[in-house]
Amino acid sequence: MVKKKGLVIAIDGPSGAGKSTVARRLAKRLGYTYIDTGAMYRAIGWKAKQEGIDPANETALAGLCGRIQVLLTNDADDPRIAVDGIDVSEAIRTPEMGMTASAVSKSPAVRARLLSLQRDLGARGGVVMDGRDIGTVVFPDADVKFYLDASPEERGRRRYRELSAKGMAVDLDRITRELRERDLQDSGRAIAPLKRAEDALLIDSSDREIDEVVEAMLANVMQKGNK
Ligand code: C5P
Repeated sequence: MVKKKGLVIAIDGPSGAGKSTVARRLAKRLGYTYIDTGAMYRAIGWKAKQEGIDPANETALAGLCGRIQVLLTNDADDPRIAVDGIDVSEAIRTPEMGMTASAVSKSPAVRARLLSLQRDLGARGGVVMDGRDIGTVVFPDADVKFYLDASPEERGRRRYRELSAKGMAVDLDRITRELRERDLQDSGRAIAPLKRAEDALLIDSSDREIDEVVEAMLANVMQKGNK
């Protein structure tokens, strides 16, 4: 038995709902480690692209998963991710890499590889992990589960602002369209589709400030943690 040093907090939801921002703040407030599982799928997508691997080629992806090394540095202010020794933290943050991540995330080999990594990282507790299947598959027994949602229009606007702020030339309509496409792909896949765990607290962040969402989550965590 691994001795736990804190709770496992799962945050799932579609792209652009604000998961990573609130997860990061929540982790900081609790002194927990923030684990961005989307970054892991993006990292594998990045490497597959580098190697010219078609996301539909399961054999090639399985081979890649057997040799790839994914390393996370969990500083709450500046989490980084490296693939085979190359820091890809910025390179994976493009809309194209979001789509590539979604395509490779259908692969059984990719999911199995990341599932074991994510379970290892969360085994001792004291983590806030965000993604699509954390409360349903990775940690179905997580101590606290949230499902963070927002309207597709609001999510599109947020993603647009985020990418524009980084100096990327982006188009709002296109971003919103791609988010919807990715939602459909993520919720329609056979393995570990995006869905709300029955025991996850649903929070709609469309009309709420980030801090408000974090406070609501903290209150829920305190309640659960004291049981
Ligand atoms: O959260 P982010 O937008 O970085 O995730 C990129 C993609 O990775 C998602 O669209 C989804 O296809 C995949 N993903 C997943 N399971 C997770 C996290 C992300 O399938 N737990």
